[in-house]
Amino acid sequence: MILKGKKALVVGVANKRSIAWGIAQSFAREGAELCLTYQNERLEKNVKELAETLPGTRVEACDVMVDGQVGALAGRLKEWGGLDILVHAVAFARTEDLAGDFRNVPLEGWHTALDVSAYSLIALARAMAPLMEGRAGGGSVMSLTFLGAVRAVPNYNIMGVAKAALEASTRYLAADLGPKNIRVNAISAGPVRTLSAAGVTGFARMLEEVENRAPLRRNIDQGQVGDTASFLASDLSRGVTGQVIYVDSGYHIVGI
Ligand code: NAP
Repeated sequence: MILKGKKALVVGVANKRSIAWGIAQSFAREGAELCLTYQNERLEKNVKELAETLPGTRVEACDVMVDGQVGALAGRLKEWGGLDILVHAVAFARTEDLAGDFRNVPLEGWHTALDVSAYSLIALARAMAPLMEGRAGGGSVMSLTFLGAVRAVPNYNIMGVAKAALEASTRYLAADLGPKNIRVNAISAGPVRTLSAAGVTGFARMLEEVENRAPLRRNIDQGQVGDTASFLASDLSRGVTGQVIYVDSGYHIVGI
C-alpha cells in the first residue's frame, strides 16, 4: 500500500483499455483515493461505470481544451482536501495528420496536436500545483509519452512533435515546481492497443516490431505502466524528477 493516504487525479480514462485506467487500478490497489475525469457527456457513463468498480472514486467533468474547466476542477478538488498526485494521460491529433508525408502537416493540425497533447500538461500542473504545496511527501505529476518524441516513427508524425514538447515541458515544469517539492516525470510507454492508438496508421506493425525485437520479446500492457506510475507517485521515487522512464520491454535501447 505505497499510496495510502494520498489523493490522485487521473485525467484520460476513456474506457477499460485506456492506459489511464491501468494507472487508476494500480493506484487503487496501492491505497490511493481517486478522482477520475471524463472529457464530455459521450464518455461520462463509461467512466462512471468504471469508477464504480473502485469504491470511493470520485468522478468529475474536465475537457482540458475548454476555458475555465481546469480551474473549476481545481476548485472542486480543493474542497476534496487537496491533491498529492496528478496523472496527465491525454492526447489528440487529427487522423489526417497521423499518416503520410510529415512535411504536409498544416498549422491547424500542429495546433490541435500540441495544444491538446502538450500544453494541457502545463495548464493542469499550474492549476493543481497549489493543491500539492505543503503536502507530506510533496506532489507528483506525471504524463504519458512515446518513443516517437525522440525517434522518427513512421506515421506518428505530428504526435511525435507533440510528445517532444511534452517531454521538454516535463523538464521545465520539474525545474519550476521542484522548489515546492513537486516532482514532474513522464512514462514513455511501448505501444498498447487503445482507442487513441487505433488512430495511428500501421499500429499493428509497431506491436509486431516490439514483440520481435525488444529485449524482453513481448509487448507491454496497461498494468505495467500502472505499476511504474505507482512508483513515480509514491515516496519510493522521492529523489526522481524531470525524468522520462521507459516502460517498453526495453525496445528503445535496441540498435540494428
Ligand atoms: P485513450 O484510452 O484513447 O486515452 C486518451 C484520452 O485522452 C481519452 O480519454 C481522450 O478522450 C482524452 N482526451 C483527448 N482530448 C481531450 C480533451 N480535450 N480533454 C480531456 N481529455 C481528452 O488512449 P491511451 O493510449 O490510453 O492514451 C493515454 C496517453 O498515453 C496519451 O497521452 C497517449 O499519447 C499515451 N501513450 C499511448 C500509447 C499507446 O500505444 N496507446 C503509447 C505511449 C503513450 P476522448 O476519447 O474523448 O478523446
